[in-house]
Amino acid sequence: MRYISTRGGSPALSFDEVLLAGLAPDGGLYVPETVPRIDAATWSAWQTLSYPKLAAAVMKLFVAGTIPDDDLTAIAEEAYRGFDHAAIAPLKQFDTDLWVMELFHGPTLAFKDMAMQVLGRLFDHVLTRKARRVTIVGATSGDTGSAAIEACRDREAIDIFILHPHERVSEVQRRQMTTVTSSNVFNVAVKGTFDDCQDLVKAMFADVGFRDRVGLSAVNSINWARVMAQVVYYVWAALRLGVPDRSMAFAVPTGNFGNIFAGYVAKTMGLPIEQLIVGSNRNDILTRFFASGAMEMSEVVPTISPSMDIQISSNFERLLFDMLGRDGAAVDLTMNRFRQSRRFEVPIEVLARSRATFSAYSLDDDATRAAIRAEYRATGEILDPHSAIGVAAARARAKTPGLPVVALATAHPAKFGKAVEEATGVAPKLPQRLADLMERPERLTVLPNDLKAVQDYVLARARAVGAR
Ligand SMILES: *Cc1c(COP(=O)(O)O)cnc(C)c1O
Repeated sequence: MRYISTRGGSPALSFDEVLLAGLAPDGGLYVPETVPRIDAATWSAWQTLSYPKLAAAVMKLFVAGTIPDDDLTAIAEEAYRGFDHAAIAPLKQFDTDLWVMELFHGPTLAFKDMAMQVLGRLFDHVLTRKARRVTIVGATSGDTGSAAIEACRDREAIDIFILHPHERVSEVQRRQMTTVTSSNVFNVAVKGTFDDCQDLVKAMFADVGFRDRVGLSAVNSINWARVMAQVVYYVWAALRLGVPDRSMAFAVPTGNFGNIFAGYVAKTMGLPIEQLIVGSNRNDILTRFFASGAMEMSEVVPTISPSMDIQISSNFERLLFDMLGRDGAAVDLTMNRFRQSRRFEVPIEVLARSRATFSAYSLDDDATRAAIRAEYRATGEILDPHSAIGVAAARARAKTPGLPVVALATAHPAKFGKAVEEATGVAPKLPQRLADLMERPERLTVLPNDLKAVQDYVLARARAVGAR
């Protein structure tokens, strides 16, 4: 299998090349040239597989020979070994046709672990075989940084530097990053905002000399391998509920469109998914798009579901590519228009086709707290604000009698404990293994918001520098 860019202007690459490249040189995102189709007999045969075995079976189709089967199986087994729940992604029934799939039993308590734990190991595997080292640099406002650090800690071929805004992340979020004391992990607190951190990362990637010297790489949400690893839990849930003998729906709290796009890929593979329901907070650019066909950027509003406080849903470009008949030139034109005028529109028939599968609902903070409270009263289950938005979107869906819906729960309630306590009066507890998080020693370096200072810090520590 080869991967092509959504903007049509970059050469096709193999999986291992796409893994390390992240973004395509023409600014596009990589997608498979053709998505493999799975028949009913194969879905049925997969029903008895454990989560790691299913992950290996699904990912095998996408790595297409670049990772040996035995290695891929070992990577999948190892990736999910540290999870707190034996089922990895357990399903809970909330109502007659409503299930919730918990994706937060990984090391950092958010769904990003589901893919990141695989990604770190894939990076290490590919780099070791190529006898290369990379330096991963990223900026975080919270969840992504800790998931990336947990995935890359102690990996021989990787050094990871995560920038967070000094004194502007929650204490739990900071400690999840700074209490990891592995020698290849570097936490930098920048005296500035999250945007300053992101600008520093962008500037480091734009500095070609620096980029090559340290072998700069990224594990951000546009990396195809993250989408691939997320396809697995859609298949997992569907098989638990009786697919391929019935069809079903998913509801997904979404920011960057990465999570729900993986559901779309599963549908493209032939998984009988009738509806994909988007849940958003007040940053509702996607909800407005599916209502009107116009993608229109506005200002980011802070909410109690901060991991979805996003105005540009980067992964949407992959859906757009399919919606526009896989015409890279048309995507290029559309995305350039979006960059210039902060707005684009798709033709009415294109919107109609996407609405045959997608619908979208948005909740403000009050409605989110009300949803947390209502689900707690009805079921005794405590949802975090992101997960509650997914469940509320599932309940608001256009109902087809007998069609089951699975809402994805993306974070452990203790990760957003304050909002949860406000809604329910109950303070959710961290899992036992993190109970002493507040007492663990921290390791971080505070640096000024200055490119040279950060680059010097990286140059002095990245092992890839000495290797060249
Ligand atoms: C990242 C994140 C999301 C949004 O996921 P996307 O892939 O950006 O759509 C939702 N909930 C939580 C808890 C997250 O960390």
